[in-house]
Amino acid sequence: MLSLILLSCTAKQTRLENECVYSPRQTEFAFWSNSAEQMEVQLYEDAQQDAYRTIPLTKTENDFWQATVKGDLLGQYYTVRSFQNGKWSAESPGIFAKAVSVNGARAAIIDMRETDPDGWTNDSRPAMPDETDIVVYETHIRDFTMSPHSGVEHKGKFLGMAECADYLSELGVTHVQILPFFDYGSIDETKLAKNRYNWGYDPVNYNAPEGGYSSDPYNPVVRIREAKEMIQALHAAGIRVIMDVVYNHTYNAEGCALGRVVPYYFYRMNEDGTYANGSGCGNETASDHEMMRRFMVASVCYWAKEYHIDGFRFDLMGIHDQETMRQIRAALDEIDPTILTYGEGWAAMSPAYPYEELAMKQWTYKMPRVGAFSDDIRNALIGSPFDHERGFASGNPASAKDVMRGLIACPEWSGEPMQHVSYITCHDNFCLRDRIDISATGETEQTKIRMSKLAQTAVLVSQGMSFIYGGEELYRTKQGIDNSFESPDSINIIPWENKNQYNDLYAYYREMIAIRRAHKGFRLGSKEAVKEHVEFLDTDNEHLIIYAIKDLEGIDSAKTLIVLLNGGSQPAEAEVPEADYTVLAHDGQANNKAGLGRIQTGHIVVEPYSATILAEY
Ligand code: CA
Repeated sequence: MLSLILLSCTAKQTRLENECVYSPRQTEFAFWSNSAEQMEVQLYEDAQQDAYRTIPLTKTENDFWQATVKGDLLGQYYTVRSFQNGKWSAESPGIFAKAVSVNGARAAIIDMRETDPDGWTNDSRPAMPDETDIVVYETHIRDFTMSPHSGVEHKGKFLGMAECADYLSELGVTHVQILPFFDYGSIDETKLAKNRYNWGYDPVNYNAPEGGYSSDPYNPVVRIREAKEMIQALHAAGIRVIMDVVYNHTYNAEGCALGRVVPYYFYRMNEDGTYANGSGCGNETASDHEMMRRFMVASVCYWAKEYHIDGFRFDLMGIHDQETMRQIRAALDEIDPTILTYGEGWAAMSPAYPYEELAMKQWTYKMPRVGAFSDDIRNALIGSPFDHERGFASGNPASAKDVMRGLIACPEWSGEPMQHVSYITCHDNFCLRDRIDISATGETEQTKIRMSKLAQTAVLVSQGMSFIYGGEELYRTKQGIDNSFESPDSINIIPWENKNQYNDLYAYYREMIAIRRAHKGFRLGSKEAVKEHVEFLDTDNEHLIIYAIKDLEGIDSAKTLIVLLNGGSQPAEAEVPEADYTVLAHDGQANNKAGLGRIQTGHIVVEPYSATILAEY
């Protein structure tokens, strides 16, 4: 191997995402550290053998440590380490490794163009003429593909997810949010035959795909190409892809690249020198530190450009500061303003940063076009995850007012309605069937299904952005396990076989999604329009909400939409303005195109635990 290291030719590097820039002629390395006294790269012929060469890096005035190695390093691997406080750090693949060896231990030198599947240059984001069209479906690659009834060939893999794309377009959703598929630490990629399951909230390499989802985790090109094939297939089916990103903490601090390359810098520290722990996972990152902020911005932009990702869901977003979220939004806008951004506006424990500066739900209005999950509408409809009480949809009238607030997207915190993520369930906490089971004890399955339909109806007619946890439409159960992050597939898989047994439920979801997408009145898109067009009609029945959307000429095909939600065990009588109504939903049935029938009266009887939806054309 020739030892031509030409430092003088190295351009000044200022970008975190360019740690390794390969060409057949030379490979340029550049790593940022403001505290290292020395840094060096180790080069490896392959992923297992000892280093054959050590490359010292030279510090530039902007704290990037650089070297250029002449010759063609394609197919080789590297690690970086830093010297400070009298000792060398452990080796790591760097903080921005784009291709990695098995278990992400070493970074791989590849030609990124070799990772593009056929037709990749023609891949494009599915059209999204109106952002209020969005209906998000959350799933996990194994949940979606592992069932023996899935009909999927590549079970548990990126390619298996690609096989299922048509299911999502048939259901009518616009986006799929996929649980973490960057490289995470809890699955040993050398022991995939063990077939373990994990959600994946334990980041190792933020900018390379997880090897466990590839057909060959030992080949650094394959996992990238197959992740792109998944995205390409979803796009071809008209589905946009949202990545679940977890910048708020790492698998561990000292063992991860962020902690090794520049010890402590990327994390918030307590005064006693221990790691702050707002994530509840042992550490929390410091988005308020300039280079952590730049890292996050560069990372989402990289996924949006290289992988054509269409949206980002930020795990424990409340650990990040608001300014970082605004800068992420601005950077993505330069790529494509239709790229979606939202997250969990809370933390697991108290972050070590001023609360009023954090991206907490309460401050959503300070981060335009960054959304937050609404635990308000969730808790109001089905009850809080922290108790077993009933919600409005399962018979508790006490939360009716909060349901109404959720229907108009909680303007007191949301900014614009689409920043309010309307949902009742996600991967966290009980799935819908299990949540209703633990609270509506003594009720029949038929009644519980009515309750679950009613709750999801409220989500789908809410002015916020609709979000559905995958598998609810097939009456999934997780057997009462509310934190299934490492439960076996038998708990987490989507039960495809239920599509027959619970076809009535599946059809209801499909029709309700279609009704939402057909009626702009349910997604007026601005706070002003909601104020102008929405009115809650009076009723004496504490279990009944009458939600009217009026004066829709020029906005919707209907002039008026009226939604009656009955969360009680008895039929509810209501008086609404007399008109010629098409009934879109009634008594647990829904039909978008033809409707269920017509009525010419203002006297409505809403069946127990169900919604009636009327359209006046
Ligand atoms: Ca991994």
